[in-house]
Parts: sequence; C-alpha cells; structure tokens
Amino acid sequence: MVASSYVNRTFKHYDQYRSQSGVTGTDAANYILQQSGISDVGVQKISGNLTDNYNGKTKVLSLSEATADSTSVAAIGVAAHECGHAVQDKKNYWPMRIRTAIVPLANIGSTAAFPIILIGVLLSWNQTLINLGIAAFSLALLFQLVTLPVEFNASHRALTILSEGGVLSSEEVPMVRKVLTAAALTYVAAALSTFLQLLRLVLLFGGNRNDN
Ligand SMILES: [Zn+2]
Repeated sequence: MVASSYVNRTFKHYDQYRSQSGVTGTDAANYILQQSGISDVGVQKISGNLTDNYNGKTKVLSLSEATADSTSVAAIGVAAHECGHAVQDKKNYWPMRIRTAIVPLANIGSTAAFPIILIGVLLSWNQTLINLGIAAFSLALLFQLVTLPVEFNASHRALTILSEGGVLSSEEVPMVRKVLTAAALTYVAAALSTFLQLLRLVLLFGGNRNDN
C-alpha cells in the first residue's frame, strides 16, 4: 500500500512537468520503437489510469489516456518503460522468456496452495500434502522474483534510448528515473509481501510434526 501510494504521488508530481521537447507519451513510444527497429508493434490508447502495458502475444503496446496524449515527463517515462518490454521481446531477453513461461504455473500454484494446505490440515495434518501446498505457493514468489530483473531492465533500456536520442533533456532524465524507480518499487514490495506470506506458511505449517 505504501509503495503504491508512493508511485501515485511520484507520478502526479512529475506529471506536472511538461517535457521541453513537447513530445507526448505516444510520440516517445513511436520514437523508441523506431529507434529499436521494431515495426511489428502497434501503439494503441486505452482507458484507465496507469493501465499501460505491452502484450507480447498480440504485439500491441497499450498506453492509458493519461500517458498517451500527455507531454509530461512522467507520461513519457511510463510509455518508454512499456517500450522497454517490446525491446526485450524483440531481443529475446531471457528473464522475460522465463517469466512468460512460468505464468501458468504461478497462477495454478497460487490458486491451489491454500486449498491443498487446508485439505492437508483436515486430513489429520498430512505433512506431505501441506508441504505440497507450500511448494505450490512458492511458485508465486518465484514468478515475482523473475519479474524484478524484467521490470528494472525495461526501465533501464527506456531511459538509455530517451537520453541518448535527446528526447529528454539532462534535467529531465533524473525526473523520469525517479518515476520509473517508484514504479519498480511496487514490484519489490509485492515480492517482499509474497515472501513474508510464504515465511508465515512455513512457520505455521512447515517443519516435521510427526503426529502420526
Ligand atoms: Zn513493466
């Protein structure tokens, strides 16, 4: 919660700074894609607030209304970050491939973990089943850990292209970096929170209670 309110505050703050070049989020996105030799990715505008995303399957980069038409440094940063994912996709950045590959596993794991643990407890504390549930939950943590390098790397790529291409002035680069760092913090917070949940599960249900 703290992380997400920090992101919103940081975004709002830097949303007040108009970029000196006057480019919009959409302009910045098109520029980065072109600079990276990416011609098969479409840029579209979607509704919502900070709903920006890149879909590697459909090759569509979606920018929220607040990002697409805005000339703020915050909007340019967010748009550029999503382009960073498109560049990762093009360059076959391996952590992104791993992340995509474990999405289904992580979804099944986080959905099935608690029912499995509960059944294990109800079956007069079946430790094997309980451990299986904990292992399933740890897949969710694995997913979030793999997400971290993917997110940091996307922002890094974005900033490099924008600053080298002169889209951002030297005063604007640190502003965009702050916006992107704040956004990355939410992923760190999510991973930390999942780790603590896993730790709680291990402390409560793990170990080797040999009641039988
Ligand atoms: Zn991202």
